[in-house]
Amino acid sequence: MANEIARYRRSLGVRSQVSIGTVHRAGIGNRLLAALPPADLALLTPHFQTVSFEPDAVLVRSGDELDPVYFPHRGAIAFMLDMPDGQTVATTLMGREGALASFSVLGPSPSSVTAIARIAGTASVISAAKFRAAHAQSAAIRNVVQVHARAVLLQLQHVAACNALHRVDGRMARWLLQLHDRVPDDRLPVTQEALAQLLGVRRTTVTLTMSKLREVGAVPADRRGFLEIDRTRLEKVACDCYALMQRTIDRMYCEELATASPAPGEQKIAVCRGKADIAFSS
Ligand SMILES: [Zn+2]
Repeated sequence: MANEIARYRRSLGVRSQVSIGTVHRAGIGNRLLAALPPADLALLTPHFQTVSFEPDAVLVRSGDELDPVYFPHRGAIAFMLDMPDGQTVATTLMGREGALASFSVLGPSPSSVTAIARIAGTASVISAAKFRAAHAQSAAIRNVVQVHARAVLLQLQHVAACNALHRVDGRMARWLLQLHDRVPDDRLPVTQEALAQLLGVRRTTVTLTMSKLREVGAVPADRRGFLEIDRTRLEKVACDCYALMQRTIDRMYCEELATASPAPGEQKIAVCRGKADIAFSS
């Protein structure tokens, strides 16, 4: 397993941290892992390694096999559809509420999208084969994969509708809010080039749209690859998709992910703790 991870690390430009034989529940950032009872989590933890990823790190390329599986604890990963003419557009954004390549439980298959880190973070990584074996043994793991799959499907449907129906400024505000949910302050480490790729538009369109957001005070500053945002004003610009997606996925996670029982002496981990800790939060 260590060799497999090292190979992936080299090929993906992802830095490994320490091998973890045990994940202490209080230190779990990933919401799917946090929702697992200790006995089910223990099926995965001996096989985990922790990796860190920097912005622009490619975790999976379109056409590559979905292997290994990443459980992000921090950061944000964008799923990009690559078009034959070289254009790209984001289909979904994933943070610690998700698991990259979890659909590998359906069997070995190539990825239809490229997964790129947009916000630096860390993740627990396990080979797809080990994850499939644990998935087959654990009803709780099957449940979190199922809930996550439905959340991803819902996000895909909303983004498809949003791309067809809503203006660029509302869409850009939506992506910025989704990124903001995954950083600790109001400074987003995102370039205009990255925004152009997320939105599937030209850089000139991003520049024009950014000036509109600046005029209304939603993005007070834009310098050195960082955007400073005013969340309240940005929410007024964003299309309805952000709030609709968040509300629906929040409810799904709260109602369908069982709260894990704490081990003796450990603090109980709530799956739903409030708005700031819900589906898109970091
Ligand atoms: Zn929209």
